[in-house]
Amino acid sequence: MASAGGTASGLHGNDGRRGAGSDDARQHVVVIGAGYAGLSAALELAQRGYNVTVFEKLAQVGGRAQVVTSPDGRFVFDAGPSWWWMPELYDAVLDRYGLVSQLAMTRLDPAYTVVLPNEATVQVPGSLPQLLDLADELDPGHTLRALFDEASIKYKAAVDEWLWKPMISWTELIDPGLAAAALTSDMLGSFESHVAAHTASPLLRMLLKWPAIFIGASPRDAPALYSLMTYAGHARGTWYPAGGLSAPARELANAATAAGVVIRTNEPVIKLSATESHISSVCTPQQCVSVDGVLAAADYHYVEQELLPQHLRRYTSRYWARRQLSPSCMLFFLGLEEALPGLGHHTFFFDTGLDEHLSQVFDFGQHAAAPTFYVTAAARTAPEGATAPPGGDALFVLVPMAYALNGTDTPALRAAVLEQVLDRMDARTPLASGASIRSVLAYNASYGTSEFELDFHALRGNAFGLANILSQSLVFKPSMTSGARNMVFAGHMTNPGPGVPPSMISGIVAAGVLDEQLSSHSHSTELVNFMLVGAKWVACGAVVLHAAVLAAVLLSTRVASYAHCISLFYRHGRTYFLASTLFDPVRFVDTAAMYALFRVADDCVDVVGASAEAKRAALGKFMAAFWAGLEAGAGEYHEHPVLPAVIETVRRRGYSANLFATFFASMSMDVETKVCETWDETWEYMRGSAAVIGDFMLPLLIPGDDEKAKRARAKALAHARDLGYGFQLTNMIRDIGEDLELGREYVPREECRAHGVTLAARAPDAPGWRGTIETVMAKAEACYASADVGIAMLPGDVRPVVALARAMYSELHPAIRSAEYNVFSGRVVVSGRRKLELAARMVPLLPLLRITLAKTYAAVLCCAVALAEPLAGVAFLAAALSESERWMLPSMVSYAGLHAVVTIPLVCGVWAVAVRRAPTRLLAAGGMWSAALALVAFVYTTPWDNYLVYRQVWGYGGAAAVVGVVGWVPVEEYAFFVLETLLVGGVWVVMASQSDDRGEQRWSGEAVTRRRRLGLGVLAGAWLAGARAASGRGTEYLGLIAVWALPVLALQWAAGAGVLLHEWRVWLPTVATSASALCVIDMWSISHGLWRIAPEASIGELAQDLPVEEALFFVVTSTMCAWGLTLAVDACRRAEARGVALTAVVLEMLMPPTNVSSETMLAAFSHGIAATVVLALWVCGAEISLESQAAALVVTTCAIGLPHGALDPLLVLSGASFTRRAGGMAASWAVYVVLMGAMYAVWEAAPVAALSLFLALSIAHFGEGDAPVGSMCDATWLIHAIEVFARGGAFLVATTTHRAQVAAVFADLVDGQELGMLMTLLSLLRWAHFVAVVGSAARHVQRLETRAAAVGLADLVMLNVLFGTTPPLVGFMVYFNGFHALRHVVRVQTQLAPAILSRSSLGACVVAAIVAGAFVAWQAGGTSLVHGVSGATRGVFVLLSVMATPHMALVACAALQS
Ligand SMILES: Cc1cc2nc3c(=O)[nH]c(=O)nc-3n(C[C@H](O)[C@H](O)[C@H](O)COP(=O)(O)OP(=O)(O)OC[C@H]3O[C@@H](n4cnc5c(N)ncnc54)[C@H](O)[C@@H]3O)c2cc1C
Repeated sequence: MASAGGTASGLHGNDGRRGAGSDDARQHVVVIGAGYAGLSAALELAQRGYNVTVFEKLAQVGGRAQVVTSPDGRFVFDAGPSWWWMPELYDAVLDRYGLVSQLAMTRLDPAYTVVLPNEATVQVPGSLPQLLDLADELDPGHTLRALFDEASIKYKAAVDEWLWKPMISWTELIDPGLAAAALTSDMLGSFESHVAAHTASPLLRMLLKWPAIFIGASPRDAPALYSLMTYAGHARGTWYPAGGLSAPARELANAATAAGVVIRTNEPVIKLSATESHISSVCTPQQCVSVDGVLAAADYHYVEQELLPQHLRRYTSRYWARRQLSPSCMLFFLGLEEALPGLGHHTFFFDTGLDEHLSQVFDFGQHAAAPTFYVTAAARTAPEGATAPPGGDALFVLVPMAYALNGTDTPALRAAVLEQVLDRMDARTPLASGASIRSVLAYNASYGTSEFELDFHALRGNAFGLANILSQSLVFKPSMTSGARNMVFAGHMTNPGPGVPPSMISGIVAAGVLDEQLSSHSHSTELVNFMLVGAKWVACGAVVLHAAVLAAVLLSTRVASYAHCISLFYRHGRTYFLASTLFDPVRFVDTAAMYALFRVADDCVDVVGASAEAKRAALGKFMAAFWAGLEAGAGEYHEHPVLPAVIETVRRRGYSANLFATFFASMSMDVETKVCETWDETWEYMRGSAAVIGDFMLPLLIPGDDEKAKRARAKALAHARDLGYGFQLTNMIRDIGEDLELGREYVPREECRAHGVTLAARAPDAPGWRGTIETVMAKAEACYASADVGIAMLPGDVRPVVALARAMYSELHPAIRSAEYNVFSGRVVVSGRRKLELAARMVPLLPLLRITLAKTYAAVLCCAVALAEPLAGVAFLAAALSESERWMLPSMVSYAGLHAVVTIPLVCGVWAVAVRRAPTRLLAAGGMWSAALALVAFVYTTPWDNYLVYRQVWGYGGAAAVVGVVGWVPVEEYAFFVLETLLVGGVWVVMASQSDDRGEQRWSGEAVTRRRRLGLGVLAGAWLAGARAASGRGTEYLGLIAVWALPVLALQWAAGAGVLLHEWRVWLPTVATSASALCVIDMWSISHGLWRIAPEASIGELAQDLPVEEALFFVVTSTMCAWGLTLAVDACRRAEARGVALTAVVLEMLMPPTNVSSETMLAAFSHGIAATVVLALWVCGAEISLESQAAALVVTTCAIGLPHGALDPLLVLSGASFTRRAGGMAASWAVYVVLMGAMYAVWEAAPVAALSLFLALSIAHFGEGDAPVGSMCDATWLIHAIEVFARGGAFLVATTTHRAQVAAVFADLVDGQELGMLMTLLSLLRWAHFVAVVGSAARHVQRLETRAAAVGLADLVMLNVLFGTTPPLVGFMVYFNGFHALRHVVRVQTQLAPAILSRSSLGACVVAAIVAGAFVAWQAGGTSLVHGVSGATRGVFVLLSVMATPHMALVACAALQS
């Protein structure tokens, strides 16, 4: 049947008028495919003046609207579409070309017949009023009139507007009509729910929802927008064109031919040749023709993936593999000698239940055991004999099939399906005679997925194209445009979608798009192309340069420091900055560094509302760091980011320390409120704050140590100082208002009195005001005049720089005059245009260009400095993951593996940077609050995430692919909540440590209130929209995110809008960075199948493999965390500033002033983890298999536990070793290796003994090492032993509470050998341990006032609960990694020599974590960290004990020695 003879093929051969590619001045366009889309496109293109050739693979036009004729010619079938809906669209298409259809159209009434399960049959009326009458009978309470009213609005908007959009850009969605419709009607909710909301009648629901199948989606997943289909069918009628549904195609083809289009059937396109960006020729087996443009109206996937050269493809094979297709179908063409009286023109056999069928096909991708089907008997309407011999029937039977069944379409299946179809027709619509239909079956042919593939190159044998779920609608459909600049796509896979009318429209719209492409192409001159290429290269160069700068900022603290200075210079001293860009680079960065020094010092004392003590402390701290740096010859970045640059500049320029002393002395005067009574006081103040600038600038302007330079400097000095005075006086006038707020009056009161004004009156209208200001200006201008003399003395290369700065600054005077001397209502500024004018007048063109470029780049750098590191980090992560195919990563894909290799190292890395950068208090606050927020995030997200999985919105690779499942959610996902919070916390600390918000806008109370209200309004609106969206399947995820997250954001905004507005420089980059990193991880994970988002619950992808909702999720969750941290830390700061007693106590606990890693913090952290695990397991009551426990232990131990052994080399280095003899280090290492070897030998020879030894050593090591500092100071040896045993032996609790599991684990470790007495011994020890715990607890209670005792007691309780309630390996995992390893790191650090800094040890741990992770991944055979992990468990455990034995001994030695 594949090449069933067409009745119209003779019409479309080459008519010889004009061959393809004939010599024609018009541009030549080839259309591939003569389906409805190709034909309408050809007509449109011809109309637009193109020379058009259509190549069609098959023998007839019409595409899927084929005609099948039986060999004897008696039976004729419409082999594809048989429902003619939206007839006005066909008329509208013809109307475009001034044509009127000659085909007679018959409206079917009844429209169709439905065979129901309960022996009943319904004739569905052919018009809406009759249908509503039927509805009144079936369900008097229905509201279908409202449904149809709403649907009619959608239908009209679609037919008039939406269908005609190419949907190649998001901007097309910015459509007031669309927005209004989305707000006023149900567009995005589930179609099924939409229908259900209007009637309770099952029959009516069925009649209204089945049209969704026409667009290839289950009614549940299709958006309610498609109720317009129901309207189209029931209100606009079902029609039958004379000649069947291929007749209009033939009519279109005739019209096209008449318009000069050449249609070549039986000539498939087999190749597209291309240049870099254009298709140059199209080849068929018969010929190759050169083309100006191509419109592909054959199946999109085939043309793009098979014909289009790789570099011009827009989509990847993975993209296509992930598309959800409409169900396909199995067709039967049955010629009967006798008609079936029970059949209408269209008859649905829903006798086996529509919902069951839909569920099988859509949800499970299975072949329905008793499928529904429909039958078209065109003979009911067609003239007698046109489709079947008189008295007979030509039946077209369509059985929907899941597209996933592609490849299972076998003759046996077809035969079985046909048997069932015939049986059911026999039963429900029998022959009049009662005989079986088989007895009158004269012709029988079938058609299925194999033929769709063969005839149409249909993707996976689909019949109807893509499923029209929301995530594949509108702009999410495959785009009409391609990578080639002269080729577009049309047809049912593009917008607006499947069906004859939409396909026709897509052809017309695509033709318009191609026309636009070709006409702009023809107008584009070579010059434009040349400029475009040039611009591309310039842009590439700029990107590369910028990347290099970012890399330098990232890698070098020195460069980062200079970048920070430049950013301050740009942000706060724009005029000087612009002028200074004319310097050579070294002088420019030196100027920036000195400016930054003055600015930072100034800012210390310019804080509105801060007390004098606070200002003095801030300035003192900065001065101390500066002097320390000056003395050491290098500034410390972590003391202040500007210091390394400042000190380097000071050294390079050889400034005397006296200058700084003068400057700082002047700054110290600003700490107190300052009022200048006389001009002398004002000049005195300015000497240190302004004139000194002249001293600083001269060595920059006139460099050199020779006598000549010195003389020149000496001569210019007074003028340089005058320039400083001039600047300061101008400044003083402009900032009178701001200074008043800080309690400062620099315009002397004697001057004010002389003019009869006071500054505090803030009255620019006062009679003497103008005179006062003019007097100060006159003094400033006198200074500028003197400065001009000095400027003339400067070397020619720097003269314009200073002259420009002077000109721009003094330009403030006219600006103040034109502001009527009002310096109180906002800052008076010189406009950018005026500055440019001045520059243009004073500076030649090239330097002017340089100023402009520098300004632009500084603006970029200003943002980039803050984001350099994180962005580089994200880029690195993305690059690493995209390259991961080459490594072992994908082969060991598992969620736990992702954490081990990507997420945990990422979090560690971020915190490592935070530790390096952040001052101690910020680090402490950030760390503590991140941990606290992680707990909150865990609790708040758990129920929500469980619901997501339960609703099948979010899913993972099945129970086998994860360590364990608690509730509905895998444990790795729970870990993700915590890890994400920690990641955001780390980034936040880094950002906060480098943020410099002084001089930024301060938000006044009213402005905050306004913004608070506005923000809350927006959030409330978004929440309502989210709540509504959550009820529709297509928008469920989006809605659930909004419903869950927005209340928290609203709460945070309500509580701290002011703080958040002020601190945006911290949280915004934090959110941007964290969310991007998480999106990158998400894309990778989704594309590797670690988790998935149900496509039907998502509105689509933002980028490949990244659903919009996932990106949104990461943005909102990062925002929640970043805002939470900002508010919490700010609250602490304020509480501290106010000295609130209770908060101060909490602060004391949360932010220990000296040691970040205090025991209290660690204890709280460890207890938090343990309590969470205990609680979570208790609440969920989940059973976790031993294998899953082992996997979790292995993964977490790799990341945290093993690395703590990395401190050993540091211990040995610092002298804490097995021996203190000369050459002790080598000896220590020798002992170390021997101990390892010995332990390994014991494991080989006597595993049970090795295990026993290991347990004994562990009790001692844990007990000794983890006890709180100070808890054993005054202990006798017996008490000491009891304490050690009570604490270190906590794991013994599990030998009674989980005896069987412990025995199983031990049996595994000793490789199946007999455990002998070991278990009995452990039970006995357990009871001894109980006694020790009671004794130890009593001792702690006695001394509870000490922190050590409190921590010790809390530890005892928590550890016993932990081991008593959780499965043994889970308990051990939490203890070993959450308690021991962390505390151990802290403890060992206190034993290290001071030279060995905590940073080195932390660095060692991070490196060890990565190495350990890689090792275990390798151990696991490159398959998975989780799958088949049991084999690795023993290996890891033995390795652990072999490494741990010398480690334990070493630590014990270190403890003894210290
Ligand atoms: C069984 C069935 C029933 C349907 N029922 C209805 C219905 O009742 N009502 C309705 O409105 N819609 C219905 N449809 C959908 C409708 O038929 C299609 O959406 C529409 O016809 C698609 O038109 P098109 O031009 O995009 O693609 P097609 O009709 O598939 O045209 C593509 C053309 O490209 C040709 N081609 C492929 N490869 C090449 C090549 N390499 N070189 C040259 N030519 C090539 C093909 O031979 C084909 O002729 C039905 C579809 C099917 C399959």
